[in-house]
Amino acid sequence: MASSRRPDSNLLAMEHDPMSWQCPKCNSARLSVTVQVEAKLTQSEDNFETDADGDHAWDDDSPMTCSDCNFTDKSLAFATD
Ligand SMILES: [Zn+2]
Repeated sequence: MASSRRPDSNLLAMEHDPMSWQCPKCNSARLSVTVQVEAKLTQSEDNFETDADGDHAWDDDSPMTCSDCNFTDKSLAFATD
C-alpha cells in the first residue's frame, strides 16, 4: 500500500492552480492535510466492505496541521500565494 505521505500526482488535478503551503507560525513545509477519500461500498447480507479507489480530495477548508509545531487551521491559512 502506498504511503500517504508521498507526493501524489492526483493533487495536481485539483481545480485551482498549483500553489504551495507552509506553516504560518514556524514556516515549516512539513504539513499534513485531512483528505476525503471515495470508497466503493460492497454490501452483503451480514457484512460490508469499503474499497478506497485512490481518488482523494481536499480544499481550502480542509484541516491542515504542521508536523513541526502542531499548528492546525484550514489549509487556506497555510497557502503562500
Ligand atoms: Zn509550524
